[in-house]
Amino acid sequence: MTAASLLEQLAPIYPAADWWSSASALETAVGAILVQGVAWRNAARAVEGLRAARLLTAPALDAADLGEIAAAVRPALYHSQKARYLKAFAAFLRAAGGLPALAALPRSQQRQALLGVPGIGAETAAAIMVYALGGAEPVVDAYARRLLPRVGAVARAHDSEIADAMRAAIGGVPERARVLHAVVVEHARSICRKVPRCEVCPLAVTCPRTLGETG
Ligand code: SF4
Repeated sequence: MTAASLLEQLAPIYPAADWWSSASALETAVGAILVQGVAWRNAARAVEGLRAARLLTAPALDAADLGEIAAAVRPALYHSQKARYLKAFAAFLRAAGGLPALAALPRSQQRQALLGVPGIGAETAAAIMVYALGGAEPVVDAYARRLLPRVGAVARAHDSEIADAMRAAIGGVPERARVLHAVVVEHARSICRKVPRCEVCPLAVTCPRTLGETG
């Protein structure tokens, strides 16, 4: 099964149109940083904490004390570390001219710039590029590393192979990047878990794992 086929089969099962759709671009990027290492509900509570503290703008984060930010994002855990990351991100945005200026850069420059910000690794950079900057990037995360090899979309759980397979499925279309990441996460969380629930999986009739073609 290709990653494109995975996308086509899962998209109707997991309506993904609302993923981060209510957030501003800044709020989305901040959420991508806050969600590191925690469940989304924790990140969402931390975003609300920032909103309540009137810190949900780049200038406000840039001007705020670290302690003030840390207190607001406490629900996201590792709050002191994440406060430093948010402060660094706000300073980065000030120097870059803001998210719209970042979005106008070529994709490779966006990624390189984001990877230079403390606390932003490859997965967070890709999530920001897709959901805050409107890009067509593959988001290679733990769920993609689990699901794509199982369904036979890649031979091995290597990030570069997974990214290539996802990029081919995305075909340069930002909406497909958004939906692909969303459905991979949803399916890996709910059905294709560490111990897969193949008996209730809608992909079982074509999945190589259930056909005995993979381990
Ligand atoms: S059939 Fe099993 S291994 Fe294949 S995608 Fe579904 S849950 Fe995962």
